[in-house]
This record gives sequence, structure tokens and C-alpha cells, in this order.
Amino acid sequence: MEQGDRLLAMFGQRLASHVAGGAVGRLGGDEFMVIRTTTFDDHEKWIAGLRDHMSRPFEIKDQSLRLGLTIGSCRAPEDGKDSGVLFQRLESALYNAKRLGRNSDLRFRPALDKQDNPQLALVSDLRNALVSGDQLELHYQTQHHPASGELLGMEALLRWRHPRDGMISPADFIPLAERHGLMTELGNWVIEKACAQQTHWQNSAMPKVTVWINISALQLFHGDLESQLAGSLKRYGIKASQLGLELTESVLLDERAGDMGPRLQLLREQGFAIAIDDFGTGYSSLAYLKHLPVDKVKLDRAFIRELPDSRADAAIVEAVLAMAKGMGLAVIAEGVETDAQNRFLVDAGCYAVQGFYFARPLPVPDLEQRWISNSSTKANSEAPGLTPVSQAS
Ligand code: C2E
Ligand code: MG
Ligand code: MG
Repeated sequence: MEQGDRLLAMFGQRLASHVAGGAVGRLGGDEFMVIRTTTFDDHEKWIAGLRDHMSRPFEIKDQSLRLGLTIGSCRAPEDGKDSGVLFQRLESALYNAKRLGRNSDLRFRPALDKQDNPQLALVSDLRNALVSGDQLELHYQTQHHPASGELLGMEALLRWRHPRDGMISPADFIPLAERHGLMTELGNWVIEKACAQQTHWQNSAMPKVTVWINISALQLFHGDLESQLAGSLKRYGIKASQLGLELTESVLLDERAGDMGPRLQLLREQGFAIAIDDFGTGYSSLAYLKHLPVDKVKLDRAFIRELPDSRADAAIVEAVLAMAKGMGLAVIAEGVETDAQNRFLVDAGCYAVQGFYFARPLPVPDLEQRWISNSSTKANSEAPGLTPVSQAS
């Protein structure tokens, strides 16, 4: 058994013995849940005791290891009677405890919910959207060779067309889905939809390129990402090599996911391409990256925005390109909006770009329309690319 697994097992055993009389379960990754009954409210005292007990070192192979512990808690009936509500509040407490930092504990307080209140309605709307299915869409943003404009790939970006509030940005509703236990379902919807789209494109006149999808940390902790991927590929008869997975740095470094290396390695062996999204915005150590089996880094648009004027950003971009080259990784620059940025990237030897300069994320019919009109006007030119929006009529 690996040392990490052994430690988890020891942690689980110690937790179970401490909770004698209650129930203990592992939710996934390094998250555990405890359910216990009390006859009076000894809540805070019990949590303090738990922390004390669990913080004592674990002895493994002559080593003495201490674990950090973040605790979210709630209590029935004060915090809710229904198990669904309680679970949601437990998640909300844990989420807020994590935001306070390692080794914090937080009991659910109505204020946590109040602060969320307008959002809670949105969570329930999102639940409905997942059931009805017709408010969610995937838009696609193309990726290009910066000099020729050749189409290299597409990124699927989730959109929610709220029946009352109109388009809601994924930056707003994805964190909500993550916090309220909907991310696995939402993520599975994306995988399924992207596979269906990819089959359709494979059998049409559209160019055959990899479709990249974004994967949330929660899909790795709680969901069975691997079997969802395998199931969708099989249902739609596509190959793993036709899908790319984008994971952000913070996902890769999230302790709850355990060691991501072996999981990524297996996914790659199956043929999926793997990219680190928003590269440079997290806190990853280069030493750690060295061991991660990934194919590509997506250079965050924060470094592109002020190109070519910012000397610092120019230096960072050049350094990342050199590093990636040395490590055999591909690089794609995100958020390329202007001709000057694009030209800088051509000169710096960047192989791929994505951004409004070439195309905004588009609904499927618009993208197909654009492709058709483009291939007819470019029928005789050597580059099968799409014209940058700024140049397109
Ligand atoms: P991301 O994966 O880094 O996606 C790129 C974001 O940058 C997209 O925002 C895209 O519309 C935007 N963008 C692209 N080119 C440009 C540009 O030239 N200039 C500017 N200013 N922005 C540009 P979007 O679609 O709002 O998505 C935001 C984030 O939401 C994504 O960032 C991703 O982290 C997340 N997301 C989107 N779809 C999904 C999904 O299906 N699953 C998960 N887990 N996350 C998703
Ligand atoms: Mg992405
Ligand atoms: Mg990104």
C-alpha cells in the first residue's frame, strides 16, 4: 500500500474509534463525514476534542506525520431537518472553513446562508436546468496557429441561458455548482454533450480537431471522471484522442485530489490529451510540474493582455515558451485579442493561440456557418484557417 493510502486508512480508523456510536464515511479524496447523535449541544466541545485527537501524529515507517484538519459542521434540528438541506449546509460550512485556511473549523451559521441567499435561488434554478437540459449549451472557441490561422482545436465552454436572467457566465455559476454538490452532474453533462458534438463533426464536413473540455476539481474528488469519460466515448463511438482535458493549476495541486500524477498518466495512456489551464496564475512549483504527465500548458491571458508593451510579461511569455520547449510541452496562449499580441507570439515561436482576435466562443450553428463561409471564400488559399474576426467582414 502506498504511504498516502496507509495514512488515510489510519486516519479513518482513528476517526471511527473516536466517533464510536456514530457513523463515519469517506466521501472521496481526503474528505470524511461523521454523523453522530447528541442529547445536548456539546457541539463546539466535541469538535475541539476531535481536532485534538486527530491532530496527534501518525506513525508510519519510523516517521511521525501530523495532518492538517479543516472541519465544517452543522446540527439538526437547528440547522435543518431534511437530509438534503443538512448536507448542503454542511458543504457550505466546510467550504467557508476552507476559505479561512488550513486547520479551521466552522459551524454552519444562517449568516453563511444569508450571504448566499440570492444565490440559493440560483442553485435551485440550476438544479432545474440540469433536469430540463434545454437551458444549458456548449459554445466553442477555436484555437489557431498564430501565423497561418490554421485551425488546431476547439474549447467547449459552458453557457447557461437562464429563462429570466438571460445568459449567466460560467465564472458565476460553476463555483455555485461546486459548492452545492451539482458539479459532477454538470461536468458529466458537458462530457456527454461534447462527445455528441464531436461525433457529429467527425461525420460532417467540419475540420477534425481535438475538442477540449474543462474539468472541475470536484469531478476528480467526488465523481468518477474516468468511467464517465469511458461511457460517453463508447456511447458516441469516438476515440479518447479526440478529446482534451483542461485542468487548472489549482485542481492539480489541490490536496483533496491526492496525487494526481498516476491518474493523469492513466488518462494519457488511454489517449486523452491533458492541458494545464490558466497556467501561471496558481502557485504551482516548477519542480512539481516536472513530474506531472501533461501535454500542454495554456498560458493565462493575464500575461498576454499587456503584450507587447510590458517588458515583464514579454519576458515571462518567452521564459514559459523556452521552459515548455525544454520539457517537451506544447503551449497555447489564451486571451489573444489584438494583432500586435498575435504578432508578438508569432515572433516568440508560440505555436497556438486562442482569443477574440481569431474568434469568440460561438454557438454551434454560428461556428459551422462561419466555417462554411470561410472554406468557400478560402477554397484556393493554402491556409485552411479562419480569418481573424478583426479582418472578417
Ligand atoms: P477558461 O477555461 O480559461 O476559458 C477561457 C475563458 O476566457 C472563457 O470565458 C472565454 O470566453 C474567455 N476568453 C477567450 N478568449 C478571450 C479573449 O481574447 N479575451 C478575453 N477577455 N476573454 C477571452 P468563459 O467562457 O466565461 O469561461 C470562464 C471560465 O469558466 C473558463 O475559463 C473555465 O474555467 C470555466 N468553464 C467554462 N466552461 C466550463 C465547463 O464546462 N466546465 C468547467 N469545470 N469549467 C468551465
Ligand atoms: Mg479552459
Ligand atoms: Mg484559461
